[in-house]
Amino acid sequence: MELNPNYPTPVEHLPRLSRVQPGHTGHEPCDLWVKREDLTHPAYGGNKVRKLERILADARARGLGRRIVTVGAAGSHQVLATALFGREAGFEVEAVLLPQPRSDHAVENLRASLALGVRAFPVGSYAAAPFAIVRRLWAGEPALYLPVGGSNRLGTLGYVDAAREVAKQVRDGVLPEPDLAVVTLGSGGTAAGLAVGFAQEGMKTRVVGVAVAAPVWGVELAARWLTFRCGRRLVPLEIERRYLGRGYGHRTAEGEHATMLAAASGLTLDPTYTAKAFAAALDRVAEGRYRHVLYVHTLSSAPLSALLEGAPSEQDLPPELARLFQ
Ligand SMILES: *Cc1c(COP(=O)(O)O)cnc(C)c1O
Repeated sequence: MELNPNYPTPVEHLPRLSRVQPGHTGHEPCDLWVKREDLTHPAYGGNKVRKLERILADARARGLGRRIVTVGAAGSHQVLATALFGREAGFEVEAVLLPQPRSDHAVENLRASLALGVRAFPVGSYAAAPFAIVRRLWAGEPALYLPVGGSNRLGTLGYVDAAREVAKQVRDGVLPEPDLAVVTLGSGGTAAGLAVGFAQEGMKTRVVGVAVAAPVWGVELAARWLTFRCGRRLVPLEIERRYLGRGYGHRTAEGEHATMLAAASGLTLDPTYTAKAFAAALDRVAEGRYRHVLYVHTLSSAPLSALLEGAPSEQDLPPELARLFQ
């Protein structure tokens, strides 16, 4: 199986969201750029593609079974991406699913995952997840375990690759070297991989990981641990905690505003991840302390319609799955 990703993903300038600082005559304007990680794959893009590419290639090379056990929120992008690419690679995918606030987008993700053949094992709380995971790992033939967000060492190396790709785009004159790269911090692999990759390339680009899950100290620890696992040294990684709002999956006013502005520039955001990161990127641009800010867009922009073919409607979801959306 070849994943057939679309690399390099494009980098674009967002002139309408870049600015000349009003009243700050000493300041240069700040340019906002976007790395289009939404376009990593024509069938389903976003940041889980680079992670799964590494993970599935390794699993195949080592002849690791035919079963993947993973875990995520009910509307997890990672579960959906694993369902799609894991199945193409010959794996059966089982997912322990956790409650999350309901959104149309999250419900569609679950419906698509089910249509792709995911076996879902819902649990009522985060505390119950480890038991459910162990139970699935012990059931039947040996299984490959994928942690939340696909953020193990190999998944994170997928984002070291992405940073290298940006470095080459800078060398090729596609974009100037960014001062900051702003990205969502969920399970941490994306931000950690980028931070390691930019450091290894000798770039000045500092990664700002915008926390979207609580507790933030736990998310921060995971990300810093992954930078160490992949880079074998400490690399700069700024954790931005001010955009979380009421917690994972909860909308924020800043996020809704950022979503509107992004739409006017042709980018579609989701409330859980990218709305919060984009809000943070816009504020960094407005601060006037930076010349070039790169926002890394991690949400697939491929239409879900093809993946929803044959999916159960929301009304037809088994009650134990429907209950996950609170
Ligand atoms: C999973 C996901 C993230 C978070 O990436 P991590 O590597 O888990 O921090 C960000 N944005 C979107 C759209 C995602 O699906």
